[in-house]
Amino acid sequence: MVRLESEILFTPIPERIARLRELAYNLWWAWHPEAQDLYRELDPDLWELDYHNPVDMLRDVRQTKLEEAALNPAYLKKFDAVLRDFDAYMSTKQTWFNQHFPESKETQIAYFSAEFGIHESLPIYSGGLGILSGDHVKEASDMALPFVAVGFIYPQGYFRQRLDHSGWQFAEYNKLNFADVPAIPALDPDGREVVIEVELPGRIIYAKVYKFQVGRVSLLLMDTDIHPNSPQDRELSARLYGGDQEMRVSQELVLGIGGVRALRRLGYKPNVWHMNEGHSAFLVLELCRELVVEGMSFEAAMAQVKQHCVFTTHTPVPAGNDAFPVALIEKFFWNYWPQLNLTRDEFMAIALQEQAWGPTFAMTALALRLSDYHNGVSQLHGHVARGMWQWLYPGKSQDEVPIVGITNGVHSASWLAPSIRQLFNSYLGKNWEDSLDDAEMWKKIYQVPDEVLWNTRQALKKDLIDFARTRLIQYYRRLGQPATVWPVLEEGILTIGFARRFATYKRATLIFKDMERLKAILNNPSRPVQIIFAGKAHPKDDPGKHFIQHVYQLAMQPGLTGRIIFLEEYDMAVGRALTQGVDVWLNNPRRPHEASGTSGMKASLNGAPNCSILDGWWPEAFNGKNGWAIGDEREYDDQDRQDWDDAQSLYQILEHEIVPRFYDNRNEAGVPVAWVQTCKEAIATCAPQFSFRRMLAEYVQRLYMPAARS
Ligand SMILES: *Cc1c(COP(=O)(O)O)cnc(C)c1O
Repeated sequence: MVRLESEILFTPIPERIARLRELAYNLWWAWHPEAQDLYRELDPDLWELDYHNPVDMLRDVRQTKLEEAALNPAYLKKFDAVLRDFDAYMSTKQTWFNQHFPESKETQIAYFSAEFGIHESLPIYSGGLGILSGDHVKEASDMALPFVAVGFIYPQGYFRQRLDHSGWQFAEYNKLNFADVPAIPALDPDGREVVIEVELPGRIIYAKVYKFQVGRVSLLLMDTDIHPNSPQDRELSARLYGGDQEMRVSQELVLGIGGVRALRRLGYKPNVWHMNEGHSAFLVLELCRELVVEGMSFEAAMAQVKQHCVFTTHTPVPAGNDAFPVALIEKFFWNYWPQLNLTRDEFMAIALQEQAWGPTFAMTALALRLSDYHNGVSQLHGHVARGMWQWLYPGKSQDEVPIVGITNGVHSASWLAPSIRQLFNSYLGKNWEDSLDDAEMWKKIYQVPDEVLWNTRQALKKDLIDFARTRLIQYYRRLGQPATVWPVLEEGILTIGFARRFATYKRATLIFKDMERLKAILNNPSRPVQIIFAGKAHPKDDPGKHFIQHVYQLAMQPGLTGRIIFLEEYDMAVGRALTQGVDVWLNNPRRPHEASGTSGMKASLNGAPNCSILDGWWPEAFNGKNGWAIGDEREYDDQDRQDWDDAQSLYQILEHEIVPRFYDNRNEAGVPVAWVQTCKEAIATCAPQFSFRRMLAEYVQRLYMPAARS
């Protein structure tokens, strides 16, 4: 094993449990709660203080705690069981990929993304895109795909969201210490550390490559905070989506071009290159350059490169697609296009997109032009994307534009509550995790006694309320204020969750359109309702911050206090607590702006039905019995009208369907049987279809294997 730079800093571990360190350095623990328990049990308070980070934990834990554990038979029994599972996972040859593609020894998939949401202790993600990439890496490991992922380690992390006393969001950045995360320097075949070089205007920038082991696959993350980069260049990978456009082009150059160079130096030979969103699209230029340097024409190089490239587009909002002014691209690439044997104009033409503010070099156009396999992230989004990019395919109708829809999914093991997993273990059969995408297998959920599912879910709600109260107490303590909205939240009452990025199209304030009607719903004495909100706005998105402040202040109004709360710092831990603990998951974007959405899938998997606009994934999932649809499948020209109609529909559903179903029809044990039926229906229909297993199998069959065989 590689010697760790930080090795001397660890608390010495007794031999009997020495493998705790090895386990900490494989993020396999991130989706195995029983592995996390091995660290938590050493010192539960420290585990919270270290934010569920095993590496940090092993540096901070007192030696006596380790010695006690090493002598504790109950601990050792769990320790041995976890390591047995871990070893079996890492060594088995009976994997999904081997079973489906036994002949594909040559396949190597390289997956590029600007962010990865693997675990809350590694804050290198901002929202849905990162969560999806993290789930992608974990599922690739579970299915044992020949797979390597490439991105950045952002040493300043993404920001921590803080709210001041008026509910205004500000950002707090915590420096990430490499010794605190499971990073090891990536080594080339000769055992040397790898530092790659990329040319930026007037200088060379260097990036060091770190390896994170995620189960069976490697995640390579680059860092520019090294000597001899200038102070400014050292900041380049400091923050996710920080800085101006120039900073952004620089980041994307290092991600795309530097990422290819990192893989080459490490000896990888990918024949599938997957760009997850356009941020990494410069990689196609580097692949062409490699061939042109060997004497191929650019045309021929492009034709060859395309066949091996896969591109996933994620946003139907035009501003979400990176496009840089041509003059800016000129500054960065004047020395690069000659290496492709292209003139300036030929180079710009590859990705030219006229915008209202002038000609731009568009990353989505670049990615689409230089890849043969493209997809959007739901069926509806596929359709919208085909319309958006039709101009790139003259002569083709919208339906003929080659962008397919492959609907997102969630990595089940990462998002399942441990108690729901227990329940699945008991009722779905021993090997249910081998058939995650098998709809027949999931029908066994109907055999779970109503009372068992209900009690499990109500216990999860209690956990969520405890979690929320703890977070609120911490918040008020930080403000130096007594808890002003106390008592807060009530056990046993219908609880709605709403958590997402506060982009304006997600309409977090929709439910407040008619305050009197909302108050009547929340304060109904026999059938009360409460709502838990969470979500971040982009640090530069002031309209988004105003939305947060608005929700925060509304929650302080008479008639709403205690019934509505806003939780700070929506991250993976908050996301898990909410999607596992609420009764209903609310989603009300302005259709058709939500490409897919995945938080609702997490809720369904845990038996919390969705109440959602028919946008993103929900039109495919909704069957009239597994949740509720707000509005219809219309699109409006008049936004105010759309907002009004959708709000009316939402109130109507709450008053006449959700609230009565939750409170009425209780059997002698107090279980609302019709409600539990909806919960089961949500699990049975959503868990298989919106599992990452189903999704990644589709990527393999429809995109990766055709690209590999080209
Ligand atoms: C699942 C998740 C998301 C994505 O959810 P959407 O449905 O796309 O809004 C974003 N952030 C966190 C922390 C999540 O867990």
